[in-house]
Amino acid sequence: MWEYVNQFVEFNQYVNSPIANYKGELYNLPFNMNTFTKLWGVVTPDEAAAKIAKQRTAIAGEPQNLEEQAISLVGTDIYTKLIKGYTEKQWGRSCTELPAFIIKRLPVRYTFDNNYFNDRYQGIPIGGYNKLIDALLDGIEVRMELDYNERPDEYTSIAEKVVYTGPIDAYFHYSLGQLEYRGLHFETERLDEKNHQGVAVMNYTERKVPYTRVIEHKHFEFGTQPVTYITREYPADWKPGEEAYYPVNNEQNQQLYHQYVALAQQEKNVIFGGRLAEYKYYDMDDVIKSALSCVAQELK
Ligand code: UDP
Repeated sequence: MWEYVNQFVEFNQYVNSPIANYKGELYNLPFNMNTFTKLWGVVTPDEAAAKIAKQRTAIAGEPQNLEEQAISLVGTDIYTKLIKGYTEKQWGRSCTELPAFIIKRLPVRYTFDNNYFNDRYQGIPIGGYNKLIDALLDGIEVRMELDYNERPDEYTSIAEKVVYTGPIDAYFHYSLGQLEYRGLHFETERLDEKNHQGVAVMNYTERKVPYTRVIEHKHFEFGTQPVTYITREYPADWKPGEEAYYPVNNEQNQQLYHQYVALAQQEKNVIFGGRLAEYKYYDMDDVIKSALSCVAQELK
């Protein structure tokens, strides 16, 4: 995947290490020894593990939802300060109504390592993501501001195969019902400061703060400009027609999705791929991997 994207654009050495801000207290993410030390004053990994083990006894048996999963991974203190508020505003639902897997995205480490990811390679495209997209589409006719689902027959007639990356329920004109998504609103501001928050991503984990995170763009590329741009990220309800950001993979939506998959399997010349067409909370690398294996399968 790394080699694939690096054919198109060079990546810098950015490593994501967000900071969580809970009522003005700052904690390192993902949950690691730096977080545990700041929170409890513990010094060794054994002390941290003992603290978490004690708090974990609040949960008996296999975790049934995100709340139980989170407490069993990191205990009640971290759940309360760093997970509950953030998660509930992001998803607009109680942690007891959310699937456990969402939180399994986050590593828990008994080392002093603030790298959010475990991947060997990490970075931001030098010159921005547009470079990557431009290179991917080089030499390909692009038509914009058109809805495939308004004239599917016309578009299907000009191609042997269609790769459809829109919402799967929209493809079938919502005939079985609507899948739910979460939306986002962004508020960007230019500040006459050199360095606003000292990190690219600061998460606001308190429920009362209406945004989930503040992005300070220059830190993705080690910018030294005299001014800075920040973006506040507000989670939002989603309505059809708006940009869909996150699939809400609860049981009810998953069931409906699988009914749509049964219909999709009958569409012989259409490949359904990506976050919306597969109704899956994909990371960028995973979606590239999935696309590459789909191509390998198709061309074999
Ligand atoms: N999360 C959290 N507190 C944080 C960051 C993340 O509880 O400070 C949880 C939350 O449940 C969220 C999930 O981890 O939905 C994934 O968050 P991440 O920010 O990695 O998601 P992204 O929006 O970047 O895909």
